[in-house]
Amino acid sequence: MPKIRVLEKYCKGCGLCVPACPKKILYLPEEVDRRGVHVVKVHAEIPCTACLNCTTMCPDAALEVDE
Ligand code: SF4
Ligand code: SF4
Repeated sequence: MPKIRVLEKYCKGCGLCVPACPKKILYLPEEVDRRGVHVVKVHAEIPCTACLNCTTMCPDAALEVDE
């Protein structure tokens, strides 16, 4: 199964990737990191199809998909 990885230090919590995922795998959590950023999180139980919509949408190259 493809695995989506968040490169947390590059994520600025803009949320652009969230609606880009047709499987609704990505979400912004309530909590912030030490920068005050809502770093995007992954619903790991939902299968990723490696469509790469999220990596295409992210302006900061904060997402990687291992196929
Ligand atoms: S590759 Fe596609 S299915 Fe997988 S997390 Fe990104 S948008 Fe969602
Ligand atoms: S689009 Fe990129 S920077 Fe924005 S929330 Fe998603 S992973 Fe983070």
